[in-house]
Amino acid sequence: MLIKTLPVGQLETNCYVVTDEKSLDCAVIDPGDESNTILDYLEENRLHCRAIFLTHGHYDHVGAVEAVAEETGATVYLNREDDADSRRDLHFPFHLTENGEYYADGDSVEIGSLRFEVIGTPGHTPGGVTLRCQDALFTGDTLFRGSCGRTDLPGGDTDELLRSLKRICSLEGDFEVYPGHMDSSTLTRERLFNYYCRLAMNS
Ligand SMILES: [Zn+2]
Repeated sequence: MLIKTLPVGQLETNCYVVTDEKSLDCAVIDPGDESNTILDYLEENRLHCRAIFLTHGHYDHVGAVEAVAEETGATVYLNREDDADSRRDLHFPFHLTENGEYYADGDSVEIGSLRFEVIGTPGHTPGGVTLRCQDALFTGDTLFRGSCGRTDLPGGDTDELLRSLKRICSLEGDFEVYPGHMDSSTLTRERLFNYYCRLAMNS
């Protein structure tokens, strides 16, 4: 598994390209902006983009979905709760069409030899998910290095976010944590030093 981080857009959203090196099949997580940057990377490395996974529906995570999906033919995955049809709010501009599928907690999607498991982690948004693939967790705006996502936007819920953090921190073993913004981390580090994780685990 090869993970490439492409910070895109004004808010430097982390777009991740996760590749199965054997088949060169890949998934693009949160193509928030700069479709050309993402498509150039795919082309330069001769990757076959099979899926676009969205950790949630906020505008800074979905801006380049249509362009990347159109160019690659990849299937787009989103939790229904964060679809523009469900939320009817400017913060959630993306609506899934025929090239997409809704996914939710407990689902899994295979890309080449990689298996992505969907863990429902609402709180930052109602339809927020964390994706687990081998020893990597893609936590969107639920868990950041040393911090967590805001809950003051429409649909946000602090209690729910803490329950989601507790669920992530309760996963067995250690993981690399790849958040929606800023630097990556490890789950061990977050369990030890992240105030919100500690609060969540003790609640
Ligand atoms: Zn967000």
